[in-house]
Amino acid sequence: MKTAYKYRAYPSKEQKATLNRQMLLSKELYNLLLEKSKAYYKETGKTLTEYRMNVWITQTKKEKPEFTELHSQVLQNISKRVSDAYRHFFRRCKEKKQGKTVKVGFPRYRKFVSSLTYPQLGFKIKKKNAELSKIGSINFVNHREIEGKVKTLTIKKTKSQEWYITIAVEKEDKPFISNNKPKTGIDLGISQYVALSDNTIHQNVKITKHQRNRSRLLQQNVSRKRKGSRNRKKAVIRFARYSEHIARIRQDCLHKLSYNLVHSYSFIAYEDLEIPNMVKNRRYAKSISECSWGNFTQMLQYKAESAGCVAVTVNPQHTTMTCSNCGNMQRMSISQRTFICEKCGMRKDRDINASVNILGRALNSTSSNFDSKTVKATEGHSGSQACGDNVRPSARKAVAEEAGTIRVAS
Ligand SMILES: [Zn+2]
Repeated sequence: MKTAYKYRAYPSKEQKATLNRQMLLSKELYNLLLEKSKAYYKETGKTLTEYRMNVWITQTKKEKPEFTELHSQVLQNISKRVSDAYRHFFRRCKEKKQGKTVKVGFPRYRKFVSSLTYPQLGFKIKKKNAELSKIGSINFVNHREIEGKVKTLTIKKTKSQEWYITIAVEKEDKPFISNNKPKTGIDLGISQYVALSDNTIHQNVKITKHQRNRSRLLQQNVSRKRKGSRNRKKAVIRFARYSEHIARIRQDCLHKLSYNLVHSYSFIAYEDLEIPNMVKNRRYAKSISECSWGNFTQMLQYKAESAGCVAVTVNPQHTTMTCSNCGNMQRMSISQRTFICEKCGMRKDRDINASVNILGRALNSTSSNFDSKTVKATEGHSGSQACGDNVRPSARKAVAEEAGTIRVAS
């Protein structure tokens, strides 16, 4: 299992200058590599591989000795970033051909690079500082012990000029043990952030009017300053600091909520939402992107396994329109907050009714999924059925065994 630890770092004044200089050089190299691979593609019709980029870097170092200011691994990481950009571009092209609504943009030239990555070598982590080759030993706040094998180290500067060190590690997989708590379905919404099938509702933090106003004011302050001036720079930092502060408040709430959920349920089913599609609806765009459902479901997914919980996605089609009691389908306008079944007369909160349907759908498809060879078919990103792409095999097995349907050969 891959995890990452993030620490606040405090480089000295000189180190900051070195880091900024190295980031500037990284940006130059990134743009050079992009240009190079564009030209290469025009000439040969092939993409420039990461390996070839690295060879080219070594040659260029002789002509441009300033690149030797960076550690060689950091330089190689930049060619990885370029080829990743290409890979994502090709992936999105493919997805678009398959009929998905994705934006396809060709890799762009960078205006700045705000992080440096040491992929394998060139750094040493100590108790209170990290020694980075060609930069020096940088102090950081070690608030949490690192477990697992250290893979990479990234030093990053935020827009508000704060520095962070992120350490990626590889942990050993522990066998999956279910926490034997009840099962639940989740309906994600705007007015009620999370509605569970056992009638509980959890809210997200609301950004207050005061916070919104302050944010707007700080943004206005930026636009009032002359471009390129020192005061503008200061205003940008002030605005960035406040935005990051609010982002942390949201993040904190989502972390706590997802933590609580995976520890109080053994099975969580949620809707597979296509968020980019939904944001297109302009009336809801702002409130939807403020909800950060994608972020939240990601947290559920990665926290689930170690908490003994299985999180699965379900196709959300018609979950709000269907009666969770008798299965009757009826129209539901957005303003209708309670579901009143025309057939059996059941009354339930709109979102809770949906969450019951989501749980039902997940339990149905998990048992049938393991029944046949469809497990393989639901792997990958195309399937939106329950127990799809994001469920680890071990967790999958646990669901199947619990459902009591079939035995999974391991
Ligand atoms: Zn009904």
